[in-house]
Amino acid sequence: MARGEVIIDYQICMGCGICVQACPFSYLELSRYGNDPYKRLYPELEADHGCTGCGICAKECPLECITARKKDEKKDVPLS
Ligand code: SF4
Ligand code: SF4
Repeated sequence: MARGEVIIDYQICMGCGICVQACPFSYLELSRYGNDPYKRLYPELEADHGCTGCGICAKECPLECITARKKDEKKDVPLS
């Protein structure tokens, strides 16, 4: 189970793909269609990603529109 996730502000993102290149695990891909008329692709996490929330992608984003965070592990503990 992924320990982290990223939140991308698609109102700002320009689909440059720098974050995709930056992820050392290749968990991001340019596969999301936006609402713009140019049919550009925007980044999103792969379906079976294992994002760690390391923040490397966020540090590389020139528009600072991607936020990485670690999931609260307490929430993942099943109720007994
Ligand atoms: S936070 Fe780290 S593991 Fe997750 S997508 Fe970004 S670079 Fe990859
Ligand atoms: S680096 Fe930033 S602007 Fe470029 S695709 Fe990723 S989130 Fe969007």
